Amino acid sequence: MIAKYPEFLNHIIILALFFGMQLVQSQPVEAAHFTTPVHYISIEFDLRANSLSANSRIELPAGFPITLSLSHLNISRILVNGQQPETGDVISFLEVPPSSTDQEILITYSKDIPPGSTSYSMISESGIALADNWYPETGQEMFFKLTAHIPQAFEAISEADEIVSFLKDDKKQITFLFPHPLFSINFIAGPYIVTEETFGEEKTLIAYFFPEDQELAADYLAKAKKYLTRYEEMLGAYPYQRFSIVENKLPTGFAMPTFTLLGQSVVRLPFIVDTSLGHEVLHAWFGNGVRMSPQEGNWVEGLTTYLADHSFAADEGRDATYRKEQLVKYQSFVRPDMNLILREFNNVGHEDIRGQPIRAVGYNKSAMFFHMLRNKVGPEVFSASLRDFFKRLKFKTAGWSDLQTSFENISGTEMEDFFTQWLDRNDIPVLSVQQIEITNKEGYPVIHFSIDQQNDAPYILDVPIVIINGVEEIHKTLFLSEQRTDFEIPLTTVPHTLVIDPEYDLMRLLTPSELPATWSQFLGAADKLAILPSEAHHDLYSSLLEQLGESEVPILAQDEVSDKDLADNSLLFLGTEGSLSRSLFARQDHPADGFTLDVRRNPLNPSQVAVLVSASNSNEVEMAARKLRHYGKYSYLTFKKGTIQDKSISATEQGMRIELVTLPVGIETSKSRMFDDILATLSQYQVIYIGENHTSYEDHQLQLEIIRAMYEHDSRLAIGMEMFTRSSQPTLDRYMSGELDEKFFLKESGYFKTWRFDYRLYRDIINFAKYNHLPIIALNLERDIVNQVFRGGGPNSLADEDASLLPLDRKLDQPGYRERIERAYMMHAGQEQNGDFSGFLQAQALWDETMAETIVEYLKAYPEERMVIIAGRGHVNKRNAIPPRVARRLPVSQAVVVNSIGSTIEPESADFAFFSPPAELSPFPVLGVMLDETEDQEGVLVTALNPQGQALTAGIKEKDIILAIDSEPVNDIEDVKIEMLYKEKNESVTVRVRRPAFLVGVKELDIAVPLKSAEMLTR
Ligand SMILES: [Zn+2]
Repeated sequence: MIAKYPEFLNHIIILALFFGMQLVQSQPVEAAHFTTPVHYISIEFDLRANSLSANSRIELPAGFPITLSLSHLNISRILVNGQQPETGDVISFLEVPPSSTDQEILITYSKDIPPGSTSYSMISESGIALADNWYPETGQEMFFKLTAHIPQAFEAISEADEIVSFLKDDKKQITFLFPHPLFSINFIAGPYIVTEETFGEEKTLIAYFFPEDQELAADYLAKAKKYLTRYEEMLGAYPYQRFSIVENKLPTGFAMPTFTLLGQSVVRLPFIVDTSLGHEVLHAWFGNGVRMSPQEGNWVEGLTTYLADHSFAADEGRDATYRKEQLVKYQSFVRPDMNLILREFNNVGHEDIRGQPIRAVGYNKSAMFFHMLRNKVGPEVFSASLRDFFKRLKFKTAGWSDLQTSFENISGTEMEDFFTQWLDRNDIPVLSVQQIEITNKEGYPVIHFSIDQQNDAPYILDVPIVIINGVEEIHKTLFLSEQRTDFEIPLTTVPHTLVIDPEYDLMRLLTPSELPATWSQFLGAADKLAILPSEAHHDLYSSLLEQLGESEVPILAQDEVSDKDLADNSLLFLGTEGSLSRSLFARQDHPADGFTLDVRRNPLNPSQVAVLVSASNSNEVEMAARKLRHYGKYSYLTFKKGTIQDKSISATEQGMRIELVTLPVGIETSKSRMFDDILATLSQYQVIYIGENHTSYEDHQLQLEIIRAMYEHDSRLAIGMEMFTRSSQPTLDRYMSGELDEKFFLKESGYFKTWRFDYRLYRDIINFAKYNHLPIIALNLERDIVNQVFRGGGPNSLADEDASLLPLDRKLDQPGYRERIERAYMMHAGQEQNGDFSGFLQAQALWDETMAETIVEYLKAYPEERMVIIAGRGHVNKRNAIPPRVARRLPVSQAVVVNSIGSTIEPESADFAFFSPPAELSPFPVLGVMLDETEDQEGVLVTALNPQGQALTAGIKEKDIILAIDSEPVNDIEDVKIEMLYKEKNESVTVRVRRPAFLVGVKELDIAVPLKSAEMLTR
């Protein structure tokens, strides 16, 4: 039986299985033939005909039965103990029952191996490789004695401690001697140049390379020698007499006893000597030297990955990064409902995309297991335990339980719990930090927190943490065995940051901020969707779609995709020019040539990813698609003609980071500048944003003063305002030209319906513009549209007419944007919500994108002008609000100004901060009533009265309908607000009300109400 399983780069290890015969190595094969079958093979080749012919003689000891598989061979003769067995025409199996005496089986056979008929074997003039189905095979272990006849110019290799060859006629006869039984044997020959070295205690290291790759041999020998020495020191002497590195015309990567067989295409890859070669060398100890027990699952790959691949990364100081990659891979593919446990891992082909979750357990989780084991017992005990394991079980099969025994014996501690929790559970620890508090005790800070395990049952864990303050890093290891564990750590300085597992020493679920969006995450996602912008894209991406079909990804046209689909799935956009991908990520500037794959977080659902793919033609797609499975850990990839040009993994946090104390930022007052001085600088920018807290009058005064100064510097100036929607632009223009009076303008523009804040906050700015003939540009999108997007969870429910008003390009994944919007959403979380977060985010982005688009349209029409933008402080955020969205559309110089009052100003959010003196408007005059619209057109309904208000004192009652204020009719709340705008505090107004009257039906009354003012208008 051949156990073959491919590894990275089609590399396959054959774990030749050989059971526990304890033989002295120099003992001749024949001496043991009475307890183990011996298989003599003599083989010849016809290279031109791609065929072999051979004789097998099997000596079967008394009491042994045997079953030989013959179906793949052309059998010309079979003799069992000199007799021809009774068989049909087609012989698939030969079964020989046990006998009381030794038996002899003779088989003569041939086999044709046409080129390309199998990926493991070939016979041709350029070389021979026999790695599957080339002799009568059996499931039993036996000694092999192979003799081959090959051209004189060829060299050959097989499992052997000794190789004897001599020339006979025009051929070379070569015999292989190996003192250990095998389940199977392999044979390779070709026009090799053989280079030899020695290592260890008189052992031989040999390179069999093709002449054309001869210059690679020296490096392979040197590196292999380094690995052999490294593992002899770590684990004990190399278990065989020879180690050969053999180049193969077929694209293999096998580790057999005594040699490794590497495909020519693999050998030429520059990184193989530094990665895979060491891994293959190590399989001489684990995999071949100690074989895995078929009953106990595969511990070999995890241990080999840890001692080879991981330790090579550690040599370069990349071990934490390497471990994080293992965790990312695991998390991309494995979910608890798959019920995969490490102890049950067995081999699965690397070609099989559906085997990814299984390999993530068998390689990645397994390597992490050995890392945690090493941390638990310490490096000395770890190495000593492995030496003990190798010594006890060399040339035998072994399982996890044998590893456990060695570690328990050497460490002197019981390890049942440790092995069981990592080998037999289908989950991994999910940690979270809760109830963080910093108190002071006797003048020094104390940090309190608890670590929760969000698992059904808690793990027993040693959790490394680090506490960072401005001066030092304090490292500690915390012990967890409960669902929740509380900690209290006294400190000497205020801690800034707490990091849990900063070096990725634990097998655990990564938090969203640690997890980069990667291609493997899309492949492993349970809910995923591929989206085509048009039918034409189907042809362009057909080779990629074929692969996706294999992993059962649904493929939809973009108009079949709902808002909910977008928010629920990991997304693959095949082509970046479709309106759907542009509504989430705006237009992309991928390279025009080649193939690009660009993975982001799905902005509507950060537990999912979104992949943007673009390609210049279908050839590029096909060539790149073949390579993609090797690049699962990346976030961004560019290929040209199938060759990688650019690859990167998006930056994520290192460890679970919790920011503890944010100290305020400040400026040196000696560096502060006078208003005029700043304005001289500001005037050089084309777009100046002045952020506001809408109700802070000092912010509006600052806006006015800056506008005034800028106008004086250069009158080519326009003012863009968040407060007006784009549809109100004609009304705004008519007011600015003097055609409308203020009252009419306010009513017609819907100011109090859409904006609602006290108009006096903006009046001076608008009037300054009006009298100086500066245009005011209404920036915003209609509120109804935005509300509907919020409620509907996205823009899909909009009528075509409304949808046409949306900017096509919206970038929802502007860095930091989602986090900021999420904080705003959470602040409103207690209140009544009429949409979920994905709708909220879509709606918020519509504000910023629409305003940016309007600004750009104006500047494109009037490139000589500058603009001052008046908008809420959130909208002017330099990092992720309007400014980057303007910059994306038009290269203009921009500056952001804010007033300092209130929140911290981070340098990345604004350019200039002013320190304005506080200012307040006189309070707005109010009646002291709560109003609602009436069902008929006339008047507004009083729904409640302020108990301290003037209206109540004056005699207005609940359910009164207010018809007019000072003879001006009012028909909605807006009218009331407009009328009140012109009243002074302490004035008295006459309110006409209609009141239901006893018997008479209704009556109308005029009531004089002395005014009282309030901070806010009642609504
Ligand atoms: Zn391996």
